[in-house]
Amino acid sequence: MRTITVLGATGSIGASTLDLVRRNRDSFRVLALTANAQAAELAVLAREFGAEVAVVADESRLADLREALAGSGIEAAAGEAALVEAAARGADITVAAIVGCAGLAPTMAAIEQGKVVALANKEALVSAGFVMTAAVARTGATLLPVDSEHNAIFQCLTGNDPAHVRWITLTASGGPFRDWSLDRLHAATPAEAVKHPNWSMGAKISVDSATMMNKGLEFIEAFHLFPVGVERLRIIVHPQSIVHSMVEYRDGSTLAQLGPSDMRVPIASALAWPERMDTPCAPLDLAAIGELTFRHPDESRFPATRLAREAVIAGGAAPAILNAANEIAVAAFLDGQIAFTRIVQCAENVLESCPLPPPASLDEVIAVDREARVKAREAMEPVR
Ligand code: NAD
Ligand code: MG
Repeated sequence: MRTITVLGATGSIGASTLDLVRRNRDSFRVLALTANAQAAELAVLAREFGAEVAVVADESRLADLREALAGSGIEAAAGEAALVEAAARGADITVAAIVGCAGLAPTMAAIEQGKVVALANKEALVSAGFVMTAAVARTGATLLPVDSEHNAIFQCLTGNDPAHVRWITLTASGGPFRDWSLDRLHAATPAEAVKHPNWSMGAKISVDSATMMNKGLEFIEAFHLFPVGVERLRIIVHPQSIVHSMVEYRDGSTLAQLGPSDMRVPIASALAWPERMDTPCAPLDLAAIGELTFRHPDESRFPATRLAREAVIAGGAAPAILNAANEIAVAAFLDGQIAFTRIVQCAENVLESCPLPPPASLDEVIAVDREARVKAREAMEPVR
């Protein structure tokens, strides 16, 4: 029996995680569950799983949460400090599944406990980069990637010496607009962007998949998780999302991890690691899928991956700035304020106009993130 905390319990990754916990009640005891503002939904989950504490980030929802938990004996709390406190309760395994840089401080608090952190919240690692990996090294925490590509790479590296890696290849579905012309991309709507062909995900990551910024963020995530050097990382478009990523070694052997497009597979891999657990996913039927295809990304239509590579090479605060500007631009797009193609343009403009020294601590990362958000909001003049 292990204790588990789910940061971002009401989201897509949170739901997939809790689905696995529900099917394995004998293996996990839930410590803390958190959400942004969904007090009622969170209370239902906290009651179902008998959590010790439930936390909403939005303090204006505390009264609702308290009311919904009345008589349950479950603690209710709210605000950023309460999120961090919940993450610091030392669960054996913490699933970091908040979306965006909002998840950074609680994820770092979990890492400080030196236990297992299953990381879905890629924006936190993109922003904090070396600060986070240094904390992992210092505390002896185990950082297990939940992002399907990174979980695949992690599995393909197991038992091998990273010194022998020739390439790490991240696969990308290409998103819902993979074959769209630039003109059509310009007019893409939020409803079209959140409709991913292969995966069912939260709105922000769905837009990131459509711009390919998701793959850009994942490139930076891979750079920090698997230190083989930026020149050994590459991206290939694979529309079927069955091969989740690959590692090629110096002898010409390529190891790949394959599986259904269901996040419960990589989440289960992290929850059970180094063991394995059952998932309800249908076995992979390659004969029914028939064809797996691959092609090079088109960075003229989807410049986000180029931008991310440049940010890694520039180093310092660049990845944190890129991430913050992208978060603001995606929110503006979802809100109907800017055109689809302006999202990545805006991130690029902010990146160029915002040279900040490399952040050396969590507080400095948060300061960079805040400043880049201000710049991004200024850069957001509507074009429609
Ligand atoms: P989601 O929008 O479905 O859920 C986000 C969760 O974070 C919710 O519980 C929400 O209440 C909480 N949250 C939002 N804003 C918050 C704030 N300001 N403070 C505290 N909590 C907040 O998102 P998701 O699709 O589950 O993605 C979560 C993370 O996992 C993202 O970083 C995403 O990139 C990553 N990820 C998701 C998938 C997927 O299939 N959904 C795959 C790989 C990686
Ligand atoms: Mg991914």
